[in-house]
Amino acid sequence: MARLAAPIDRVRNIGIAAHIDAGKTTTTERILFYAGVISRMGEVAEGSTTTDWMEQEQERGISITAAATTFPWRDHVVNLIDTPGHVDFTIEVERSLRVLDGMVAVFDAVRGVEPQSETVWRQADRYGVPRLAFINKCDRIGADPAAVAVALRARTGAYPIVVQLPLGLAEDFDGIIDLIHLRARRWDDASQGVVFTDGPIPEDMLADAQAARETMLEALAEVDDTFMNLYLGGPGEPDVAAIKAALRRATIAGKAVPTLCGAAYRNKGVHDLLDAVVDYLPAPSDIPPVRGTDLAGAARSRPASDDAPLAALAFKVAVDRGLPVTYVRVYAGALRAGDSVLNSTKGKIEAIERLVRMHANHREDVRQLDAGMIGAIVGGRTATTGDTLCDAAAPIILDRLYVPEPVISVAIEPATADHLVRLDEALAALAAEDPSFRVHTDENSGATIISGMGELHLEILVDRLRREFQIDARIGRPQVAYRETVTQRATANRTFERMGTPAHFGEVHLVVEPNARGAGTIFTNRASIAEIPARYVPAVKAGVTEAAAQGVCAGFPMTDVAVTVVGGAHHPVDSSDYGYKAAGTQAFRTAASAAAPTVLEPVMALEVVTPDDSLGDVLGDLGARRGKITGIQARHGVQTVACFVPLSTMFGYATDLRSRTRGRATYSMEFKHYAEVPHQVRDELSARVRA
Ligand code: GDP
Repeated sequence: MARLAAPIDRVRNIGIAAHIDAGKTTTTERILFYAGVISRMGEVAEGSTTTDWMEQEQERGISITAAATTFPWRDHVVNLIDTPGHVDFTIEVERSLRVLDGMVAVFDAVRGVEPQSETVWRQADRYGVPRLAFINKCDRIGADPAAVAVALRARTGAYPIVVQLPLGLAEDFDGIIDLIHLRARRWDDASQGVVFTDGPIPEDMLADAQAARETMLEALAEVDDTFMNLYLGGPGEPDVAAIKAALRRATIAGKAVPTLCGAAYRNKGVHDLLDAVVDYLPAPSDIPPVRGTDLAGAARSRPASDDAPLAALAFKVAVDRGLPVTYVRVYAGALRAGDSVLNSTKGKIEAIERLVRMHANHREDVRQLDAGMIGAIVGGRTATTGDTLCDAAAPIILDRLYVPEPVISVAIEPATADHLVRLDEALAALAAEDPSFRVHTDENSGATIISGMGELHLEILVDRLRREFQIDARIGRPQVAYRETVTQRATANRTFERMGTPAHFGEVHLVVEPNARGAGTIFTNRASIAEIPARYVPAVKAGVTEAAAQGVCAGFPMTDVAVTVVGGAHHPVDSSDYGYKAAGTQAFRTAASAAAPTVLEPVMALEVVTPDDSLGDVLGDLGARRGKITGIQARHGVQTVACFVPLSTMFGYATDLRSRTRGRATYSMEFKHYAEVPHQVRDELSARVRA
């Protein structure tokens, strides 16, 4: 069947990322307005923007769901994936980066490259996502887009190529000087910026503009050989088409970041930003074929072609008007309503009943989603986030999303007992949507425990229980996800014997040793079959795994331990699974207890930006929280403090920092690694278990 969507080279799948408050929401809204998708602009302050469709996002003023929106620009189709601005939602950022082909990073012309923008920038590096930089708020006092471009290079190693200069700054900001066309563009206020005029560059700015154009061309020649030959070979300067083509190649190759400026709030610069999206960011056909494996685990890839067998990734599951809505990116082939496809991750057939394309204010039923397109399945049954949907005749499992391990947990219970069952169901639905959110039952207390990426992450989920599921829930004190490990090598031999009918026997000799941090726990069997017959090895492993899950110091799951079974014994009549499992458990407990066990805690990388006069106070407080300062930098009248700090000391930090600095400091935090707790903390934690 022919494509329904625009030709694949006219599709752009993009996201907009920014530090909170840089202007992402305002920019997104202007984009949708100028693209003709929404007819009036709501103000962010009024909480009526289009992409922030969840109530609580509007209240909190942050975006937490990756809503996909499709809109036209020039003769292209742009699918915009909303990316959240808060680190507690790393998984949302990660999963949107996974399905994007290009990204617009919005910066504040006054505040520059803030910690969170750097975090997102590094994540985008990991996925090799080509980027544009949009330096917003050029109308603010102190705006300095040139300095932001310099900082971007210094702080991220990116190669910004400035393609526009502001026409005036702060209150004089009046439009854009386009260095490629060498012209000035001004937006008309009365039409909310719908109408704009192009004219010559004002005399007093011409020299600066020409110098900046030279810099741009030289930078381009440096990263693109074809352009270098044109530029040096002459005669005359390369034309607009050659400059744009080179910029497109360099951007897609990840060698350059076209850098634009504007003021979304003042309706200036947004048209050029959209033109740049179409001109410089890649089409699905410009990126490498998507990778995965076949059902046997052999590496496979699929080209972004309509003729290839279907390969699609479910990247988000939401519930809308009571029905599951599964957002998918189609990488190859076409997903059609009425088809049955294979959910290769789950090994189940999914019958596709309804397909939609999401627009900002409505959804449109479509017969098919073509290669390169993003849309959603309504009423899907099998897919959860990260699953692959493919042609059953040509199975492929696309690489899974990177899902960080949750670092905090909290006990949850419904405010009224009759909501217990509904709470379980609602939590299961939320967990299907968000793989960084986990639910389990504590074996000792029977309590329901939820785990996630940070305090705010869990708070928002509890909020959603109330709003979307009408369940009031109470939560306990947040607990850090501690782990245990061993720091030395130790051995143990254990024999388990029980008389009776049936009798049980098992004997296990094993060694435990520290494994590299982050490498997890591994189990190896080196016992001969005369010592432990092969059929009992799984029972030994089960015993070890069970014991490791309970820890030996303070009841936390053990990690980064290498367990090797080195010998054992066998009884001709009484050997049993039960016997070997019990011997495995006991041998592991004995060896691990003798191997200098300790407790590990999640350590976060924290960056605090504070005014000079609060620096001493902020540092003193971080010291009290066991923070290890790794750097302090002065920038633009503020100090940026980088530090590693245990998560367990950071509860309530947001409120604390606010009152300490009267709201003038900001911070960002992300999980860094697990590290050993100080002895005193370990002893306190173990005492708590014994009490
Ligand atoms: P987000 O948190 O990145 O989504 O940022 P918002 O779009 O919510 O903007 C944060 C604040 O900055 C709001 O009060 C906006 O009105 C304001 N803002 C956004 N763009 C501009 C701009 O170009 N100039 C000025 N002066 N303010 C802006």
